[in-house]
Amino acid sequence: MSLAACGTQRPASAPTPQLIHQDGRIAVMLTDIDPRRIRSYDSALVSFGTRHTYSDTVSSTQGVGAARRWIHAQLSAFGRACNGCLRVEYDTGMVQTTSYPGRPIRLVTNVVAWLPGRDTTRAVVIGGHYDSCVCAVGGAAARFDSTSTAPGANDDGSGTSAVIELARVFSRMFGNQLESTVIFALYDAEEQGLLGSTHLARRLKASRMNVIAAMTDDIVGNVTADDGTVDSTSVRIFAAEPDTSRSRELGRYVWAVGESYLPGFRVVPVWRLDRVNRGGDHRPYVQEGWAGLRFSERIENEKRQHRPTDELAWVNFGYVANVARLNAATVASLALAPATPDSARAARDVPLSGGRHWTLSWSAVPGAASYEVLLRATTSPQYERVVSVGAATSYDLHVQLDDHWAAIRAVGSNGQRSLPIVVPRVTRVIPAPDQ
Ligand SMILES: [Zn+2]
Repeated sequence: MSLAACGTQRPASAPTPQLIHQDGRIAVMLTDIDPRRIRSYDSALVSFGTRHTYSDTVSSTQGVGAARRWIHAQLSAFGRACNGCLRVEYDTGMVQTTSYPGRPIRLVTNVVAWLPGRDTTRAVVIGGHYDSCVCAVGGAAARFDSTSTAPGANDDGSGTSAVIELARVFSRMFGNQLESTVIFALYDAEEQGLLGSTHLARRLKASRMNVIAAMTDDIVGNVTADDGTVDSTSVRIFAAEPDTSRSRELGRYVWAVGESYLPGFRVVPVWRLDRVNRGGDHRPYVQEGWAGLRFSERIENEKRQHRPTDELAWVNFGYVANVARLNAATVASLALAPATPDSARAARDVPLSGGRHWTLSWSAVPGAASYEVLLRATTSPQYERVVSVGAATSYDLHVQLDDHWAAIRAVGSNGQRSLPIVVPRVTRVIPAPDQ
């Protein structure tokens, strides 16, 4: 099979390529996501007073220990309701930090729920951080303030509550039915330097887990700017450079999922790792070489972050529910799909085309019914053409690929698409002269 050269822009009459396969079970699951439940989870989290990493771990009503035991209890109840499909654990470890002079190693305790897939060597991670702080008031010492009230309703009670709700709806709809394992991760010590997510990312790396995607919901509930501007109908996704990175491929995937499942809720891609001088729990996964992505509200108000003003009244739970629906459709699509054809490569065809055309090839992926070649101009943020190549594992691309990006993805018999892998691989930002 072959494909004639495509222009840099799709003609106005050309149909939008099918980037995402819609699944009826996913659509039903989205209707099960309940903003009232998300509000009740966040209310419980706020009721612990502070969830600072160094706060009380003994009390049953106040502090970070009570908060994580409550989260563990919620997830465990979902696990019992699905006959054990969800495995809940305290994920503890020691992590080095430079943030606390004289205290270089910290114990972190994440709360993690595993929904095993048929292939337990692959995982999609969706997380949020349950710790809170009032570290923006009172100078440097505020970072150590583990007793003042730190509601953290939005940062990151909103993301934590969304992930708890995701664990509930996934365990109801997809217990023992996914191809990939899904990990619902509630991180400790994000505010101390991403310590909880750093620990889990390293643990997954050490156990040779193939993390397809690691996403974090962090600050996903505010819709009102300081000047009164309101935006409750769009959400930002942050995906790191370069433009051919796994993170950017994940960003394009989430963007397409949103357009397909939630047309009234706009995904706004931001092509950078995170907001300026800010961090999030996707970063440790990106550092391990995996695809990472952050979801954050469209409009932030830093007057209500890391302060006692981060209260429930400023969280719009209908909005958080829409972010959770976008999360759910993305996680389910990825977890129902075959693995990415990571072996894909592209070879320039000099004998027949003088080097303008290319041969793409890849090894068969277990569970894949067919494959697709995706194409976009180098200046296009999203794929413009999708070509089904059937069950073949090679393809003659009649395109001057120097002017485009091509990618290969696997398609399951259920229609679900894997994340694509870009060819040819980009191994350096500044190519050697012979490339
Ligand atoms: Zn945060």
